[in-house]
Amino acid sequence: MTIAWILKEKGRSVVTALPIASIEEVVDLLAKHRIGAIVIVDEMHRALGIISERDIVRLFATHGAHVLSETVAKHMTRPVVTCSEHQSIDWVMEQMTSRRFRHMPVTEKDRLAGLISIGDVVKFKVALAESEAQQMRQYIAAG
Ligand code: AMP
Repeated sequence: MTIAWILKEKGRSVVTALPIASIEEVVDLLAKHRIGAIVIVDEMHRALGIISERDIVRLFATHGAHVLSETVAKHMTRPVVTCSEHQSIDWVMEQMTSRRFRHMPVTEKDRLAGLISIGDVVKFKVALAESEAQQMRQYIAAG
């Protein structure tokens, strides 16, 4: 099964910010949308980097509150690892596990085309397991 399957269900909208946005603006976006990461894009909607709630916590611990006025360009993680909607969900899950991050932007011809979180992958896996168990029960009941 590919990433396109998840995107069909959850949609392709992604909360983004430009590199000139301040850390304060990024914190507001994370809180307002109740999400764990913001993808940083250029005017052409190409993914330049990513900043997650873990980065923000680390920034506050290291630099204190004055970091709020600094630009996200200074603190985002780059390069950002992306995938295409044609890649398998298992491949993305393996990347998230081995690289220890929970978000992966989806790109199409270099442009941002969605975002997959570890929560989306887990939701898909749980639904798959439930559907397989249901099929097994029907198979046993029919036999
Ligand atoms: P997360 O687990 O997604 O909160 O992220 C943990 C760390 O990995 C943070 O430093 C993020 O900026 C970074 N990170 C998250 N997603 C990606 C990604 N797709 N590519 C590169 N770095 C990422």
